[in-house]
Amino acid sequence: MNDSKPKLAIIGAGVSGLAAAWALKDADWEVFVFEKSRGPSGRAATRTVHGIRVDHGANYFKIDSPLLEELVLRELPNEGLIQIPGNVYLFNKENVVSKGDMRINEEIKWNYRNGISELGKRIATVSDAKIIKQTRVVGLEEISDSSWEIISEEGKKCGVFDAIIFTPPAPQVLELISESKNLPSLSDLKGLLGESKFHRQFSIIMGFDQRIGRPSDCCAMLNEDRRHPISWLGFEDAKSGRVGIGASVIVAQMSPEWSMSYYDSCEDIIYNEALAEVSKLIDVPPSGPLWKSKQRWKYAHPKVALDVDELEECSPEGWFFCGDSFVGRGRVGEAILTGFDAANRILGVE
Ligand SMILES: Cc1cc2nc3c(=O)[nH]c(=O)nc-3n(C[C@H](O)[C@H](O)[C@H](O)COP(=O)(O)OP(=O)(O)OC[C@H]3O[C@@H](n4cnc5c(N)ncnc54)[C@H](O)[C@@H]3O)c2cc1C
Repeated sequence: MNDSKPKLAIIGAGVSGLAAAWALKDADWEVFVFEKSRGPSGRAATRTVHGIRVDHGANYFKIDSPLLEELVLRELPNEGLIQIPGNVYLFNKENVVSKGDMRINEEIKWNYRNGISELGKRIATVSDAKIIKQTRVVGLEEISDSSWEIISEEGKKCGVFDAIIFTPPAPQVLELISESKNLPSLSDLKGLLGESKFHRQFSIIMGFDQRIGRPSDCCAMLNEDRRHPISWLGFEDAKSGRVGIGASVIVAQMSPEWSMSYYDSCEDIIYNEALAEVSKLIDVPPSGPLWKSKQRWKYAHPKVALDVDELEECSPEGWFFCGDSFVGRGRVGEAILTGFDAANRILGVE
């Protein structure tokens, strides 16, 4: 009977939290996923700009483990799953562009025709969990030593849960726990969460009414020496079916250093400076882009990996953690695997 099942709250419907929900689908848990945004998928993010689906977070994902193959290729619907053709070129701080690293280019670059956020949406659908959108969790209240009330914005009580999986970037989890009233001091846990550091990043999106010149086999460009103001230049028109013939959409992911120094600058400065850097790598029309858009990521990529076992050891029993904070780099596939691991720990599976 459903009523007698223990209740699990997963905070965050990014790919790691959703993977945990999916992995617990047939287990004896009633699973609720709380997500602050309007839709699932977190930083595997897509938005519609001028009628075009644009990935403004992760650009593609890899399927490089049997568990990912099982989830993405066998469990999720394959319709609209695409492989991005072409190579990732390299560039250095002197703006010299070269043919890419064969190692990167041999890997299949997966995405969806409708955007990478399809990944989260599809996992959410097959997980059977209740996804509670537009609900930012702002606090927890200890009800007993093995149950907690979830509090959302406006002080709304969202139910009492027997276990919780925390999935947002560790600094955000620290904020949430620190702002919760009626919890034990948890100073060791807070100390460990405080060791997490994330890079900030701007994604600058530019739309052109002509095809921007680039090598015909180039789908993106990566800064190889990490000394350029741009880290990654992605061409959305390389993703089949996204952009009409005779148009281009570019996503420039600016370097952490650039992003820090322009973090609070006004829009015009951000766009002009980013366009100036893009123009050093590819020929853009003198009239500039037809339209532009941007995303400012406060927590884009983790700089270090936290040890999840250490963290859970100093947490109340029933608290679990997953997400790329425990990987130490931003990777969709690896974040998903942390979600599977959290589910296994809940089930007591080694
Ligand atoms: C610009 C950029 C480019 C990237 N490029 C790539 C790439 O090309 N390939 C690749 O593999 N990876 C890439 N990554 C990294 C990849 O996107 C992440 O590693 C992965 O998506 C992390 O998933 P997650 O579930 O750990 O975290 P998230 O996706 O951050 O999920 C956490 C979720 O929690 C929600 N949330 C946060 N706080 C609360 C709260 N208080 N209450 C409720 N919900 C909350 C958030 O809205 C979010 O949905 C990129 C990331 C960025 C930002």
